[in-house]
Amino acid sequence: MTLLVLQIESEAAHRDALLDAVGARTLPWRLQVAGSVRQAREMLASASPDAILVSHRLADGTAFDLLPDFAGRPSILCVAPGEEPAAARALHEGFSDYLIKDAGLSYLEVLPEQVAAALRHADVLRRLRETTERYEVALAGADAGLWDWRFHSGGSTVNERWWTMLGYRPGEFDLQGNGWLTLVHPDDRAGVQAAMDFAGKPDTPRQYEIEFRMRHKEGHWIWIQSRGKVVEQGPEGQPLRLAGTHVDVTERRRAETERRLAQMALQKTSQLLEHKSQMLEDMLNSISQGISLVDAGNKLLAYNPRYLELLELPEPLVATLPTVEKIVQFQTERGDFGQGFDLIEQQARDYVASQYLANGAGLNVPDLYLRKTRAGRVIEVRTRMSLTGNRVRTFTDVTSYLETQSALRESEARFRSLTELMTDWYWELDAQGQFMRSEASGTAQRGVLFRQTLGKAAQEAVGQTVRATQEQWQEWDARIASRREFRDFVFPVESADTPGLRYFSMSGLPVFDEQGVFSGYRGTGRDITAQKLAEAEIERLAFYDVLCGLPNRRLLMNRLAQALAASARSGQHGALLFIDLDNFKDLNDTLGHDMGDTLLGQVAKRLVGCVRESDTVARFGGDEFVVMLEDLNAGLDEAVGQVEAAARKILQALNRPYDLDGREHHSTPSIGITVFNNHEQSVDELIKRADVAMYQAKAAGRNTLRFFDPQMQSAVADRSALEADLRQGLLRGELRLYYQPVVDEQMRVIGAEALVRWQHPLRGMVSPAQFIPMAEQSGLILPLGQWVLQTACRQLAAWARSPQTAGIALSVNVSARQFRQPDFVAQVLAVLAQSGASAQRLTLELTESLLLSDVKDVIAKMNDLKAHGIGFALDDFGTGYSSLAYLKRLPLDQLKIDQSFVGDVLTNANDAAIARTILALAHSLDLGVVAEGVETEGQRAFLLRNGCKAFQGYLFGKPQPVADFTLAHLATNETKP
Ligand code: C2E
Ligand code: CA
Repeated sequence: MTLLVLQIESEAAHRDALLDAVGARTLPWRLQVAGSVRQAREMLASASPDAILVSHRLADGTAFDLLPDFAGRPSILCVAPGEEPAAARALHEGFSDYLIKDAGLSYLEVLPEQVAAALRHADVLRRLRETTERYEVALAGADAGLWDWRFHSGGSTVNERWWTMLGYRPGEFDLQGNGWLTLVHPDDRAGVQAAMDFAGKPDTPRQYEIEFRMRHKEGHWIWIQSRGKVVEQGPEGQPLRLAGTHVDVTERRRAETERRLAQMALQKTSQLLEHKSQMLEDMLNSISQGISLVDAGNKLLAYNPRYLELLELPEPLVATLPTVEKIVQFQTERGDFGQGFDLIEQQARDYVASQYLANGAGLNVPDLYLRKTRAGRVIEVRTRMSLTGNRVRTFTDVTSYLETQSALRESEARFRSLTELMTDWYWELDAQGQFMRSEASGTAQRGVLFRQTLGKAAQEAVGQTVRATQEQWQEWDARIASRREFRDFVFPVESADTPGLRYFSMSGLPVFDEQGVFSGYRGTGRDITAQKLAEAEIERLAFYDVLCGLPNRRLLMNRLAQALAASARSGQHGALLFIDLDNFKDLNDTLGHDMGDTLLGQVAKRLVGCVRESDTVARFGGDEFVVMLEDLNAGLDEAVGQVEAAARKILQALNRPYDLDGREHHSTPSIGITVFNNHEQSVDELIKRADVAMYQAKAAGRNTLRFFDPQMQSAVADRSALEADLRQGLLRGELRLYYQPVVDEQMRVIGAEALVRWQHPLRGMVSPAQFIPMAEQSGLILPLGQWVLQTACRQLAAWARSPQTAGIALSVNVSARQFRQPDFVAQVLAVLAQSGASAQRLTLELTESLLLSDVKDVIAKMNDLKAHGIGFALDDFGTGYSSLAYLKRLPLDQLKIDQSFVGDVLTNANDAAIARTILALAHSLDLGVVAEGVETEGQRAFLLRNGCKAFQGYLFGKPQPVADFTLAHLATNETKP
C-alpha cells in the first residue's frame, strides 16, 4: 500500500512530526512525499498511491488543483486551526476527510486511524459501484423488462429490454405519468389499472400478476406478462414505489390459442362425422335405389329399406344379416328368377345360379345385369368393389326408363328419315346459344353446306359456337335473345372452300320446357347462295352499265337525290359534270363498235382515276358520262374553283392518247358543268343544265368546259384571261414592288413590308389580292415570288449603302407553294449572295396554310434559313389554323396580327379580346408582334396600351414605290430622333 504525502510545511516541527507519525514502521504503508503540485502530479500518474494526505497550501498552488488527479482515491486534507471553512469546502469538493493541525500535535495520534478509515470507506464505495455496475449489466441483459414506478411523482424507470420488447429505442417517448398505458390494448387497460390500484392499497397482498396486450411500435399486439410488487412504503404503510417485470409471452399465448383451436377443430370433426353418417343413413333410406353391402365372405353387412321393398324380401330373413347364398336360396325357391333363372339376363344367369348352389367361388361377379321380377318390372343390378374389399350392390327399377328409351329410338328414326328427305338441314341450340345438334346427313352436298355454315363438320359442331363476323353474330345473338320465332334470317358466311360469300337462311322456333323455362332453339337452315347471287346480278343489270361496270343513269339519279339531301344538310356544294366525247361517232363508224367499246372502257378508267372515291362516275349511255362531285366548299367562288380544277384535270386526262389494240388514238371531251347546293333544283333539272352547258362547250369549239351559269362562266373566263396576261406581264416586266413602313412605339420607321403590284397596260394597277391566288393555283407564283425576292434583296443592299437607310429591315411575303419547293432554301441563299443583301435584315412572312403540309419539313427549312440569319414572321395571325403546339415548335420571330382584328378593336369586344390574347401569347412565347392595318390613332393607342411595339398601316404610310418610301422615311426619322 502506498500513501502519498503532499506537504510543504513552514513549520519544521509539524512536518517532521507528521512524517514520523505516518511513516512509523509499524504502519502498513509505503510513504512518498511530494513538495509541489507538479511533483505530486507526476507521482499520482506513475506511482498510483492508495491514499493521499495533503497540506492545504502547496508551494505552487493549493490541494484543490490536484483533486481531478486523485481520481476518487481516499484523500485527507490537513488544515491549520482557523481554516475550518477550507476544511468544509474540501469535504464538499470530494475530499474524504480533514484534520486540524493543533499546536499540541494531538492530531497525529488519530491520523493513522483516520487514514485507515478513509481507505475502508473508499473500499466500500468501490464495491458498491461494482455491485451497481454488475446489477446494471444484469438488468441490461435480462430478457425481462424491468420497471420501477413511483406513486406520487408518477415517474418511472425502466431498463432497455422494457423498450425493445415494444420495438422502441430506450427513452423514445416520455414515461412520466401514465403515458405507457395508452399502448395497452383498450380491452385490457381497465384490468391493468385495477391491478395497480389493488397493489397500491393497504391491506392487500401488495403484489399482482397480470397478462395484457401492448401495441408494438410496428403496430401489432404483443402479450405481456407483468408482475408488480410494492417495494417501498411510507410510515403509514402507504405504497411509495411499485416495481416489477414485463415478460413477452406472445409466443406462449399463441401456442395456447393454437392448441385450443386444434381441440375445437377435433371436436367439430367428430361432430361432423356423426352428422355425416346420420345424413348418409337418411340418404340411403330415402333414395329410390335398393342398396346392400356384402363383405368378402359374401355376408350381408348393411342394406336400406328400399332393398327390402324392391326385392320383396321379408325383414326377419334379412335382419339376421345372412350370407347372400341364403337370400338367393330364398328367392329361387320363391320363384323370383323364373324357370331356369330365365328372368335374369343371359350373362348373369350362371352367376346367380352358382349362388343358389353355393358353389360360385370361381365365378366373377358381373358389374351390371338386368333381371325381371315376376310382376314384369325390370331391375338393373350393379355391383361395385369398395376400397375396403366389400361389395356395394345397387338395385334400380329401370322399367319406365327402358320404355321411354325405346319410344325415343322410334321417334329419332322417324325424324332421321324426315331429314334425309329434306333439302334443308335441322339444327338445335341450347339455352346459351351453342349449337348442340344438327342434322344434314342427307346428300354429300348438304354435308358441305352445313360445314360451311358452321365452320365445322356436322358432328364436330355439336357443343361449339360457330365463328363468323362480329356483326353477324351480334345480330344472330339478338334474334336468339328475343326468344321469339324467326324466319329467313340471312347469314352471310365466309367460306374457305369456295371464293366469295355464301348465304344461308335460318328459321328457328324457341323451345321451352314443361316449367316454361327457355331451353334453346330448334330450326332449319337452307343455302340461299344461288338465290342471292341471282338477286345481285339482277341489281347489277339494273344499276350498272354492262360495258364499263360504272353506275348507270338510274343509279346516278338515285345518288344525285341523296347528294342533294346531304348538301342541304351540310351546306356544302356539289357539282355535275356532263362529259361527251368529241367525234365519237366517227370512231365507231370507221373502226367499228368493238374499238368504240374499248375506248369507252379506257375513258371510264381514266375518269375514275381523276376523282375521289366518294365521287360518282356514271355512264349515261353512248359516249356520255356524268361525274358527280360532292363535299365541295360551302363558298360558291371556292366551289367553282374546285370544280374547274377537277374539270381541267379530266380534260387533261382524256386528252392523253389512247391505245386501241396497238393503234394510237386521240380523243377529246366536251364538259358541261352545273354546281348545286340545297334543293334549289330537281334532279332532272340539274341533269338538263349540265347537258346544256355541255352543248355550249361543243359550240365553243369542243375539247373545253363550260359552266351552265353565265356568271360562273365569265368568272372562269376572266380568270384564265388574267392568268395568260400575268404570264405575259411577268415577262414584260409589268410587276412593281411597293414598300409599306413598319414603325415602332415612337412612330420611327424600323422597317418595311414589300408588297407586289401589277402595272397592267389596260387594267391599270392590279391588286395582289386579285392575282396572287390565281398565281398560286397556276404555279406562276414561283417565278413571281422569285422576282419579288430578288427585287427586295437588291433594295436591301442599296439601302445598306447609305447610313440613313442602313437600319431598315425588310419583310417579304412567301406563298406556301413557293416555300414548299424542295430547293427553296438554296434559292433564297443564292438571291442573298447575288444581291449582297444582309440576311439579318430580311424577314420572310409565312402564312398558316403552310402548316397544313409536312410540318417537319417546314421546320427543317426554317431552321436552315434561320441559321443564316433570316427572320420569320407568321402572317395574318389569328385567321388560320395554327395550333399552339405548332406555334411553339416553329422557329418564329414575329406574329403579324391580322388587319381584320385591328380594324375593329375599338368597336368589337371580341376582336379586342383576340388582339389582346395574341399580344399576351406572343409575349409568353417571346415573339415580336406587328399589328397590321392600323388606320386610326385610337387603334394605335389601344394596341400600344396592350403591349404592342410595332405597327403597320395607312396611319403611318401606304405601300408606295421605293423612291417615295425612302424620302418619307428620311423625313419622319429626322423629325423624331
Ligand atoms: P398581307 O401580307 O396581309 O399584306 C398586307 C395588306 O394590307 C396589303 O395589301 C396592304 O396594302 C394592306 N394594308 C396595309 N396597311 C393597311 C391599312 O392601314 N388598311 C388597310 N385596309 N389595308 C392595309 P395588298 O398589298 O393588297 O396585299 C394583299 C396580300 O397579297 C398581302 O396581304 C399578301 O398576302 C399578298 N401579297 C402581296 N405581295 C406579295 C408578294 O410579293 N408575294 C406573295 N406571296 N404575296 C404577296
Ligand atoms: Ca404580309
